[in-house]
Amino acid sequence: MFAHGSGGRQDAAPTDGGWQDAAPTDGGRQDAAPTTRVVGACGARGVAPDGDKVTSLNYGKVTSIALDPIEKKPLNRFHPGSRILSVGSFGCNLTCPWCQNHEISRASPAGFRTVLPEQIADEAARLAGEGNIGVAYTYNEPLVGIEFVRDTARLVRARGMKNVLVTNGYANRRQWETLLPLIDAMNVDLKGYGDGFYRRIGGDLETVKENIRLAAGRCHVEVTCLLIDGENDAPEEMAAMADFLADVSPELPLHISRFFPRYRYAEGHEATRLATMRRFEDIAKARLRHVYLGNV
Ligand code: SF4
Repeated sequence: MFAHGSGGRQDAAPTDGGWQDAAPTDGGRQDAAPTTRVVGACGARGVAPDGDKVTSLNYGKVTSIALDPIEKKPLNRFHPGSRILSVGSFGCNLTCPWCQNHEISRASPAGFRTVLPEQIADEAARLAGEGNIGVAYTYNEPLVGIEFVRDTARLVRARGMKNVLVTNGYANRRQWETLLPLIDAMNVDLKGYGDGFYRRIGGDLETVKENIRLAAGRCHVEVTCLLIDGENDAPEEMAAMADFLADVSPELPLHISRFFPRYRYAEGHEATRLATMRRFEDIAKARLRHVYLGNV
């Protein structure tokens, strides 16, 4: 199913956000010393004064935790009607000016709880009686805290429960291969398809496409596109995106999510017009069997 080689793009991808796999010997649990040099703008990774490896600064620092309906991830075709313990920290490796979660994606927030993987896995198991099927790594970009996701996912899997990743999909091959064996389902953003769209936000379209294709052969995958008037609403780009997804699989669910003004797009931008949403829905439904509109 994964027809294309990486062409070296993935290994070259994330160089700005401290994405080298640091594998800290203490599991990344140390608090950042005051002199730790933070790498990147989001505060999720840094370099200790006596080392040269980039390490996790958000390990176990949980900003949000909730038992959510699985459809809220959104995943509409993976254990529908179930619930999932959803956990998030802070930080992101992209810089979307319209970020819908900027309070936790762009900087280390003032408030977090320290919750270690064992505690999350135990809580997930305890909540099984309330319809919980596992743990979702979500809210911020979980890949900037990949060590925490990896460690927690192993424990969740050992308890016979599911792991769900909600991600922008901008990972290099080693990171992706680290997580794929542990993940049962994921929702991946595909943010736009036009020339230069991903470059503007610090990412790379081909990397994300390749990761979607690779993941779709290994676990349940659904895709979300946040549709924004004037940004990613060109009909030919919508068609090209839907063609790509249909080539991965016409069964692959697509969520078209409506933008609302936030962050640097809080002023001077309007919520996505319903006509734009319907246009993409029509284009996508001509190619894909499962298309959903969100936030309408
Ligand atoms: S990828 Fe998501 S969390 Fe990260 S900046 Fe973009 S919208 Fe915000």
